[in-house]
Amino acid sequence: MSKKKPPSFGSAIFCNSATQGESGKVDCRGIFTSFLAWSYPTFMRNWQAIVTIYDLPKKTIGVSVAIACGRGKKETLATADVEKREGELGNVLHIPLRYQFHKEGIYNIFFNIIGTVKMLKVPLKVSTQDWPEFTDREIESIRRKKNLPNAIRAVVICSDCSKPYTFEEALLPGHKIADGVELFPNSGFIICESCGTKIYLKDVQGQVRSSMKTAVQRVRKGVE
Ligand SMILES: [Zn+2]
Repeated sequence: MSKKKPPSFGSAIFCNSATQGESGKVDCRGIFTSFLAWSYPTFMRNWQAIVTIYDLPKKTIGVSVAIACGRGKKETLATADVEKREGELGNVLHIPLRYQFHKEGIYNIFFNIIGTVKMLKVPLKVSTQDWPEFTDREIESIRRKKNLPNAIRAVVICSDCSKPYTFEEALLPGHKIADGVELFPNSGFIICESCGTKIYLKDVQGQVRSSMKTAVQRVRKGVE
């Protein structure tokens, strides 16, 4: 009998969310290769890595995932156990990842089959976006057009204790905010009331402003 091949990686991609069906196939939504960031540290970003592994042994193996910026120090992001699925050549794994980026650049995500030298390296870019500013004309459009929101809310969940907070970005002066909603703080962060974690909000605020700006520009161009 020939010697069994050791397990090895096929490929990996990143996406916003993923679910694994009965057959073992993974449905992914929102595949991406880079993160856009409006401020650092970013809000805690959550995403999924979809990894394929071939020649899995009968016993369970472990896979570790680490991140490094450029040639910087590696930090472990996750570890996962992989079991062989009968009748399949390759195995598709989805591993939830979370990380708070401290600077822009090309990061590398390293996948390793624990106890072996088998490694897969996948780049992930983090690029800084300009702070979305609104021109007087854009503000005037928001004031006049009923199909444009003049405020957008974002629910921010504390990454440590899961306490939810609702923030609102309003562009028109004199905007009244509802109970239980706060404006984004000028400091760019809050301290979680429940667990004391510092929650950075500038990145989320930039994202919200960016989506508002896109909506305003579409209306102004007559798309909607
Ligand atoms: Zn908390």
